[in-house]
Amino acid sequence: MKEPLGTTGLLLNEPLLWEKGKKGRRGFSLPPRDIEPAHLDKEFTGEGPDFPDLSEMDVVRHYTRLSQWNFGVDTGMYPLGSCTMKYNPKTNERQAGLSGLSTAHPLLPASLSQGVLKLMFELGKHLSEITGMDATTLQPAAGAHGELTGMLLIHAFHKSKGTQRSKIIVPDTAHGTNPASVALCGYKPVPVNSDEKGILSLAAISQVMDEDTAGIMITNPNTLGLFEENIRGIAQTVHSKGGLVYCDGANLNAVMGVVKMGDIGVDVMHLNLHKTFSTPHGGGGPGSGPVCVKNSLEPFLPVPRVEKRDGQYVLSEDYPESVGKVLAFYGNFGVMVKAYSYILSMGPENLKRASQLAVLNANYIKEKLKGTLHLPYDRPCMHECVFSDKYQMANKVATLDMAKRLMDYGFHPPTVYFPLVVHGAIMVEPTETECKEDLDQFIETFEVIAKEAREDPDLLHEAPRKCKVRRLDETTAARKPCLAG
Ligand SMILES: *Cc1c(COP(=O)(O)O)cnc(C)c1O
Repeated sequence: MKEPLGTTGLLLNEPLLWEKGKKGRRGFSLPPRDIEPAHLDKEFTGEGPDFPDLSEMDVVRHYTRLSQWNFGVDTGMYPLGSCTMKYNPKTNERQAGLSGLSTAHPLLPASLSQGVLKLMFELGKHLSEITGMDATTLQPAAGAHGELTGMLLIHAFHKSKGTQRSKIIVPDTAHGTNPASVALCGYKPVPVNSDEKGILSLAAISQVMDEDTAGIMITNPNTLGLFEENIRGIAQTVHSKGGLVYCDGANLNAVMGVVKMGDIGVDVMHLNLHKTFSTPHGGGGPGSGPVCVKNSLEPFLPVPRVEKRDGQYVLSEDYPESVGKVLAFYGNFGVMVKAYSYILSMGPENLKRASQLAVLNANYIKEKLKGTLHLPYDRPCMHECVFSDKYQMANKVATLDMAKRLMDYGFHPPTVYFPLVVHGAIMVEPTETECKEDLDQFIETFEVIAKEAREDPDLLHEAPRKCKVRRLDETTAARKPCLAG
């Protein structure tokens, strides 16, 4: 096998700044003052915080070294399923940094913000075209926020018909945020199991769909990485009972330029600009979760909306049926600039090509690894594939052990133990970023780990062995985070 990637195994020992400090050391020095010192009022003096005394070099090296401990798409493969950790071309960051865009102020009048409004107007149009929908709001700040907005739109739609409903159907292969968004909007999520092929059957939906159900929330492709093939029939059934179809389109990376959700029965969907459309994510934002709708839901979209009147772009609040605002001002504008730049620089053919390559890469990994790892749903996948630890459990090696061992070999682990429908799930999403050689190295690494699982399971129980920190108590880390250092 090739050598592990990157700086694997390189240990940099980093003391706390408090351990490093020496009394009297200085980060800067100023010439002696030539005026008498003026004493501050009493309330401004006192002990002050317990900061260590450090030189400039101490501080620069400390933070530069810490920054090198980061792992990201720019340093290695990051196959985190359901997250689309892909390479985002740097040119899009550059456009977002242009001073006319990055210093635009949300309180400037529309007459002084024409370029900014034009960008938002056109981005909305492009997203509507890509999804096959009629109108788009750019306001929501994340995928889950888009879901909540979508639920509010569905609620407003039924309210306008004078027939309030209480339930939303949510399949077991939906993203975890879906039932949460449903509940947050006051609906009751109705769970439905997918069939033996890992997708929804028409029969299962027909059984639960009734006239007290406001709609269905389908993640498509679903969290098994499979396309919901029966979506047209399902949409028909839901529509026939007066319900609406919501599509969680966070992972548009699989279908962009190939499937228009609006053409196959979807009424409302959100996209994650910070997954598919060139904003790096994973550090907690900012993100953007635009919601695209059919004409039937358009009157309810959040305000203000960008419109074009007599060649001028204006912000209009004139929508009496609107659900109102879902965020201060107009959404995370910097993320929109990157998406706009990405869409224009790629063009329709290359957006489609990005999806095709993402799907090809996932299927390549699926086919190559399916003898090594158990593949519960053996059919063509979309942008990600889901394995399990069934074979390795014979030697008491679990998904977590393999994920930790991958780190010794220089890979960020895939998503583990999600989706819940697969016991011990290992969910791999390579994205379109990776070349064949890197995919091969990932596959080969898993083969080596599977061999280790057979021959020396304890090695895996102790992984990671080469990393700066070994096994963390993840529950305590999440429940009682120690943020003080
Ligand atoms: C990432 C993701 C979400 C949530 O998006 P956030 O921006 O993290 O709120 C929702 N659904 C699916 C399918 C996703 O992959």
